[in-house]
This record gives sequence, C-alpha cells and structure tokens, in this order.
Amino acid sequence: MTEYKNRAVVLNRRPEGEIRDGDLVVQEREQRPLKDGEVRAQTLWLSLDPYMRPRMNDSKGYMDPIGIGETIVGESVGRIVESKSDQYQVGDLITSYSGWQEYSVFPGDAPMVYKIEPKAGVPLQAYLGVAGMPGRTGYCGLMYVGKPKAGETVVVSAASGPVGTVVGQTAKKEGCRVVGVAGGPEKCRFVVEELGFDACVDYKAGNLEADLKAACPDGIDIYFENVGGAVTRAVAPLLNKGARVPICGYVSAYNAADMASVETPFHVLKALDEVPEHRFFLVTEWQAQHQEITTILTDRVASGELKYRETVAEGLDNAVEAFKGMLNGKNFGKQLVHIAD
Ligand code: NDP
Repeated sequence: MTEYKNRAVVLNRRPEGEIRDGDLVVQEREQRPLKDGEVRAQTLWLSLDPYMRPRMNDSKGYMDPIGIGETIVGESVGRIVESKSDQYQVGDLITSYSGWQEYSVFPGDAPMVYKIEPKAGVPLQAYLGVAGMPGRTGYCGLMYVGKPKAGETVVVSAASGPVGTVVGQTAKKEGCRVVGVAGGPEKCRFVVEELGFDACVDYKAGNLEADLKAACPDGIDIYFENVGGAVTRAVAPLLNKGARVPICGYVSAYNAADMASVETPFHVLKALDEVPEHRFFLVTEWQAQHQEITTILTDRVASGELKYRETVAEGLDNAVEAFKGMLNGKNFGKQLVHIAD
C-alpha cells in the first residue's frame, strides 16, 4: 500500500454496438510500492481516441483486445511523482500509454514513454492531439502514404478532429487544394474559416454526393480516409487516375455489433474499375521519427501556424460519456479528459 489512491476505468463487459451503462466502470485500484528501476506517474491529461472502441471487442485487430477487468488503454500526459529509476526525476513530464487511470507505475526503460520538453506556446495537452499521436498520424499518413504534390486536390474526412486538422493544414502547406468533410455547419465553418481549408462538405446536410462533386471540380487526387461508410462511397467515383488513399481508420464502423460484416473502404475501393493506390497504415510505422515529427508539429503550434480545437471533459468520472460522444461526433476537435494540474 502507498499514499496514492488510484482510480481506473476498466472493461467490465464487452459492449455490443454502442457502449451502455455498466460496460465500462470506474474502480479503485491499489497502488503498490515501487520496485527498483520503476517510476510512478500522475495522469494530468488523458487522450480519448477512436481506436479504443475496437479494442473493447473480443476480436484481434492490429492490437490485442483489452481483457475483462483490465484498464482501458490510452495515452496520457503525466508527471513523475516518485522515481526509483535514474532515467526520470520527480517533476518530469511525459507522454505514456498509462491507460485510463489517475496513477500508473512502469519501469524507467519502458518503451513508448517520451519526456516532454515544455515549449512556449504549446499547452501540455497538445502532446496528445495535433502535436501528439493523432498529429503524427495525419502528418505521416499524408506525407509518406498520400505523397501530396502541389496543385492536387486532397479530401480528408473527420476534418475538424486532430488527425484531419493536421492533414488539411499540412496539405495546404504543400500547395494542395484541400476539401474537408465534417458533420454540421459549425464544424464546416471552422474548417474553412479557422483552419484555412478551401472548402468543407457537411455530410449530414443530405446532399453529400452533389456537394462533394461541386467542391472538387478537378476530381480527387488524395482521399485521406478517417471514417468509411457513406463518405467513402461518395468519394470513390471522384477519384482521379493515379489517386492515393491512405486508410487511417473508419470510425463509422467502430460501434458495429459485427465488424466482420461491415463494408470497409477496401471493399469500396477494390470494386472500382480503376483501383486507386490504397493501404492501411499505422502511425507506429514512423516510430523512429517520433521526435523529429513532434518537433515539426510543436514548432507549428508554437508559431500559431497549426490551428486546432479541443473538447475537454473534467475528471475520470466523465471519461466514458465523453468517449461515447466522440464516436458520434459530439466532440469538436481533440477529445481530452483533464484529470489533474
Ligand atoms: P476525431 O476527433 O476526428 O473523432 C472522430 C470523428 O469521426 C467524430 O468527431 C466525427 O466527426 C467523425 N464520425 C463519427 N462517425 C462518423 C460517421 N458515421 N461518418 C462520418 N464521420 C463520422 O478522431 P481522430 O482525429 O482522433 O481520428 C480520426 C481517425 O484516425 C479515426 O478513424 C482513427 O481511428 C484514426 N487513427 C488512426 C491511426 C493509425 O495509426 N492508423 C492513429 C490515430 C487515429 P464529425 O462530427 O465530423 O462527423
């Protein structure tokens, strides 16, 4: 036993479709004393990300499912509050895959833990959003899979979220015409007026095919896939010869009771007469460039060039509702949970 009282959100029961009351529950967890070489971190900010939902299912995707009774996986910004490792000192700020909990213990040489060197103009929580994993996803997926060229038309779905935000603003910097797809007039206005996209199509307005066609008079050269479903079906006929489709995710399917029966972007694209270059990618493909890409993104945040929104839920008790909302687009920008200062 220690002085630290930990609380965690654990998987109590596998959700069938949308998450229901009792699927995820908050539990008190004992914190054991540190062993030599270990550190204890207090979670300050927790990141909520769409990939967490498929990991609650009992099927192996690109990562193992979360076990019943286990803490929900997730990345956080934390502060070292106790250290028996010479690699970390009390007060160090880090990002780590702590899971949804208030304290975590890990070995000083654990992988995927990064020290944050605070930078003026870059709030800590940005290291979970546009300057963190989602930002690197957007940047690397666009630059290394999409391979944009000046003058091309780039379409990105979930345009107001952290991945879409970075894709669109990076593509603009590369000289592309950028069209977002987002849910509702407020998000679309933000994407054009604040983020500087050339256009944004509201897929909820009822004219998706016609509106997308009008926004892309020269067709689509890169479609950065975040959502799947009706948006992919509307994009497909507009893809130009030589088009590339980085498949980042398809969040419209994540709440499906049976993922195996979902029509994926692969089905839609492979059925086309001219099949575009397309592949699923994982941000971890560029893990070796973690610091380099983080520096590019934090520099752009610090200078005010990279703009973004965030939605903050307060405290671990509100994490589950915030997560459910995010899967349905209730978030506006990066969805975070603020745990402590
Ligand atoms: P967002 O913050 O953008 O949240 C998800 C958004 O998806 C919602 O806000 C909503 O926006 C949109 N959405 C939900 N349902 C639908 C639907 N039926 N049709 C269209 N849009 C929908 O998420 P992120 O920016 O964090 O992530 C974007 C994508 O990137 C996800 O698919 C995620 O899994 C993927 N990803 C992949 C990684 C990888 O390594 N491959 C790493 C990180 C993320 P709206 O209101 O506009 O509908």
